[in-house]
Amino acid sequence: MRKQIRVSHPIYNLLPTEIEGFDSLADLALDMHWSWNHATDEVWRQLDPELWEITHNPWVVLQTVSRDRIERVLADPVFRKNVDALVEASRQAAEAPAWFQPNYSQGSLTCAAYFSMEFMLSEALPIYSGGLGNVAGDQLKAASDLGVPVVGVGLLYQQGYFRQVIDKNGAQQALFPYNDPGQLPITPLRQPNGEWLRLEIALPGYSVWLRAWQVQVGRVKLFLLDSNDAANFPAHRGITSELYGGAPELRLKQELLLGIGGWRLLRALGIQPEVCHLNEGHAAFAVLERAHSFMEKTSQPFEVALAVTRAGNLFTTHTAVAAGFDRFVPALIEQYLGGYAEKNLGIALHDLLALGRQNPNDASEPFNMTYLAVRGSGAVNAVSRLHAQVSRHLFLPLFPRWPEDEIPIGYVTNGVHVPTWDSAPADDLWTGSCGKDRWLGTTETLEQDIRRASDAKLWKFRVDASRSLVEYARERLSRDLSAAGAAPEEAEAAKHLFDPNALTLGFARRFATYKRPNLLLHDPARLRRLLTNPDRPVQLIIAGKAHPADQAGQSLIQEWINFIRQPETRAHVIFLSDYDMLLTERLVQGVDVWINTPRRPWEACGTSGMKVLVNGGINLSELDGWWAEAYTPAVGWALGDGKEHGDDPAWDAVEADALYDLLEREVIPEFYSRDENGIPTDWVARMRESMAGLASTRSNLRI
Ligand SMILES: *Cc1c(COP(=O)(O)O)cnc(C)c1O
Repeated sequence: MRKQIRVSHPIYNLLPTEIEGFDSLADLALDMHWSWNHATDEVWRQLDPELWEITHNPWVVLQTVSRDRIERVLADPVFRKNVDALVEASRQAAEAPAWFQPNYSQGSLTCAAYFSMEFMLSEALPIYSGGLGNVAGDQLKAASDLGVPVVGVGLLYQQGYFRQVIDKNGAQQALFPYNDPGQLPITPLRQPNGEWLRLEIALPGYSVWLRAWQVQVGRVKLFLLDSNDAANFPAHRGITSELYGGAPELRLKQELLLGIGGWRLLRALGIQPEVCHLNEGHAAFAVLERAHSFMEKTSQPFEVALAVTRAGNLFTTHTAVAAGFDRFVPALIEQYLGGYAEKNLGIALHDLLALGRQNPNDASEPFNMTYLAVRGSGAVNAVSRLHAQVSRHLFLPLFPRWPEDEIPIGYVTNGVHVPTWDSAPADDLWTGSCGKDRWLGTTETLEQDIRRASDAKLWKFRVDASRSLVEYARERLSRDLSAAGAAPEEAEAAKHLFDPNALTLGFARRFATYKRPNLLLHDPARLRRLLTNPDRPVQLIIAGKAHPADQAGQSLIQEWINFIRQPETRAHVIFLSDYDMLLTERLVQGVDVWINTPRRPWEACGTSGMKVLVNGGINLSELDGWWAEAYTPAVGWALGDGKEHGDDPAWDAVEADALYDLLEREVIPEFYSRDENGIPTDWVARMRESMAGLASTRSNLRI
């Protein structure tokens, strides 16, 4: 039996909870279903249109508007009726059987716990960095839509991941604004007696108090832990300040809190998941604590407990290079986990270290979190077919004497939660062609249905999308420039850059060197010629952050800014700062072509390219990750020869030339070859193939 945990809304007592109807608004604002179901948008817009437009955070809107305003809108019977209907619809949706219930009601799965260092659900809850959090967030939303019993477990970061500003000199500055928990759509997790649920976790010498929070994601709950508890030593309050910040010791502490703290939290809530999913190796300590719980229940020794519980652990690896695995020097593991190994697990430190080592007897070998995850899990998945091959090679040392291609690593290619990434016009177009529930359950006729959309209709849809993106990019750039202290004329000029009818290319991702964000810049003169051809102009939007410790990544940003600041290119390339979810949405909904240039096979999967599919954007990408599986000449363009070449600069040069050739000979001419109605028919045919053939197969709602 699950214990009842009540959640109370007010964090700040000033909320006008006594206003009749306020609770309904609070219920809606605290259910992040609004991040992909836009039924409630109008409610927040009516309360405060400007704040809603900027933040897209209903909880902030609700806390900011005046009591008078809330009273006034709630007094309007139409508004009130709408709110009541929305609350009722959400209550019904939470109880109605979804795909999972009729199909698996007899099954034994009652709960899967999803552990992840980051979750990307909405900009209103900025606790993510990139692709890993994207997969976790989109999967929680899909679980909600499909009715799969999942609970998420993660950390609440007071400052999240850094925010980016491009300064006057074109250099990246990292900012860490504070995430005021009162303004995030989360609630303290309270015990039945009203006490805030807190967990005590022993660290060497002291214990750390963790506060527990709850996030409602449709039907799914996400639990977050943070260490900013008033009872803690100052040094411990900041453990969960930043995502991916700090030295290895801090990272180890975060991973202890996530894995061990996370599992204890589930126990405190009376939740007993059959399946524990580790989204990347960061969460691998959950495996130890799960075994420990089993030991307490059954009095079995650790070896038995691990052998029994590992069958219910599933590990998804997301990394394609061994250097990307989290490793800790043995002394750190001894310091933080020596006592835990002996007292809680009843094993020697040496045996614990062995779980994270290739050679258990090599005292100098660091402790590898990924090895612990592999050894502690009954099944291991990679995130694409190619990545499974790469992973079998990477994990070869753990399977001595096995033939490499028989190493038991499967794969589930990542998908995206399509309702999160489609634009409102795309939603209308697909609804008109394929019906309202097209992404849920069986979608057998989806492909034929969207294929029937006419050229004229598809092209108008794209033209409108380009125009919205150009308008957005102008406004956002102008704001970026003003904030960086540019002259008012420059900020004003930004509002007139770009041509809504020109071909728009998009490139936005983390600026990590393996993604080769400067491949397009390989021959700047050639790129300039491509962009500025007066008959067939091309415009390019770039965005992306480089980790504050990654100097190489930051200099790639600077390279772009220098290129953009030349008078000839200024009108053709825009760099938008602070790549985040809101920006991604606008980009994937508006670009004509989405470019991706990683060094194969380091992308593992990649998801941003899947977000453009539903919106009619076309991919031009290296044959890596998902694109190596999805690409056919009818749906887009491919870069590379399907082989690995490491970071050989000569090969980079070959691929850069191939990229220019593709743009010059295929992409640009196809876009500008119009029929008598001004429609690029070949382009539209490719777009239709991409939408029909790929959009639904890359949806994580597809069964
Ligand atoms: C989709 C997304 C990612 C992942 O993109 P890839 O290019 O596939 O790595 C990263 N960051 C943000 C903000 C995203 O929306």
